[in-house]
Amino acid sequence: MKKVYIETMGCQMNKSDTERMLGMLSYFGYEETKNPEQADLLIVNTCSIRQLSEDKAFSQLGVWGKWKQSKPALKIGIAGCVAQQKAKSIFKRAPYVDFVLGTHKIYALPEIIEKISKGEKICECTETNTTEDEQAVKYDIKRVKGVNAWIPITEGCNNFCTYCIVPYTRGRERSRLPETIIKEAKDALNTGFKEITLLGQNVDSYGKDFKDRNYRLADLLRELNAIEGKFRIRFVTSYPTDITDELIKTVVELDKVCEYFHIPMQSGSSEVLKAMNRRYDRETYAGIVAKVREMVPDVTITSDFIAGFPGETEEQFQQTLSAIDEFELDYSNLAAYSPREKTVAAKWVDKFIPEDIKNERFQRLNKKVQENCLKSNLKYVGREMEVLIENFYDHKGKMINTGKTRNFKTVHIPCDKDLTGEFVNVKITGTKTWYLQGDFT
Ligand code: SF4
Repeated sequence: MKKVYIETMGCQMNKSDTERMLGMLSYFGYEETKNPEQADLLIVNTCSIRQLSEDKAFSQLGVWGKWKQSKPALKIGIAGCVAQQKAKSIFKRAPYVDFVLGTHKIYALPEIIEKISKGEKICECTETNTTEDEQAVKYDIKRVKGVNAWIPITEGCNNFCTYCIVPYTRGRERSRLPETIIKEAKDALNTGFKEITLLGQNVDSYGKDFKDRNYRLADLLRELNAIEGKFRIRFVTSYPTDITDELIKTVVELDKVCEYFHIPMQSGSSEVLKAMNRRYDRETYAGIVAKVREMVPDVTITSDFIAGFPGETEEQFQQTLSAIDEFELDYSNLAAYSPREKTVAAKWVDKFIPEDIKNERFQRLNKKVQENCLKSNLKYVGREMEVLIENFYDHKGKMINTGKTRNFKTVHIPCDKDLTGEFVNVKITGTKTWYLQGDFT
């Protein structure tokens, strides 16, 4: 067998694409290695959400390019969002690269492998407006063994937030067919996965683009929930104004769907939200979060925020800090604003916030998120909760199992036996900032 090493950067969508690429490559005699030095084929699956990750990808390619001088048969590829965006120009910057594979074309990989083995250099980055379902059925997915299987249900995004590169790298929103998704879920469950996470930039708008059927996320959840066996279902990411009452009711009604919503707010200021081209203001977001909290008992709501968006004033930034408190957001992912080529906000150079102020705001946001995460965790001390064990490892000299509650809280449980993949009942005995501590009941 030949060996392939894939370095995966960025979001879960990229991790899912990597699993698909490994699946395809296994049909062509490649097996995965975790050691890049042993590989015959090296691929970096890139993320372009921030300049830093793009730079990291090119520096990785540079290292591999040097290896090629002493190992001329080595093949090097670049996939993911940077590949989609930069396309052929990558060959100029990194001439040792054999192929460039954009996000729209990952199912062209087998053909590319054949061509590069004959010495050709290939760039496959044409945009497509169809889903990849038809081709997908040809190859199984090579899932990284684990507890949770990520299943993309939509690709791309139509929202064009002024800071975001995704509509340019992943294209317009396309929903995958329910039949394909359900098959992938069944396959994953049959091979031992215990949790299905449905993935998309805006999962709540799943199905809006179907011309031949009226079928939305709630319908998909119902069909998945009906699959036999004990497992959990999650979905990320939700665009605030696309969350319907029907969807919330469905989450409450279905026993396998977990009490967890990831609803990015991005800023607590209505003016900044407008500049970001988000389709809601602070009050609208507040109403959505209040409704979800009221209808879904024990729900965890997480969010995303950007510090230092162009033109953000100190007062507007403080509205973000107060939003985290006021809406009792359980946890938030944070980013300091990073201008991305092609996006609208990247042109507002005269409004850019100086790096030191941006970083200082990021630190203050981080502190706020920590405080709120701890506050949120404290609510569960003394409670009994079901945990799905995901990992077993040595934590500061003690063996522990770690896993997630239904509402996405991480729990550490001291135990010498590896219980990965099992559902256990746990009494929450204490908490740290980022995780709960528990013991078996
Ligand atoms: S909703 Fe906005 S932030 Fe999210 S992927 Fe689409 S454009 Fe980007």
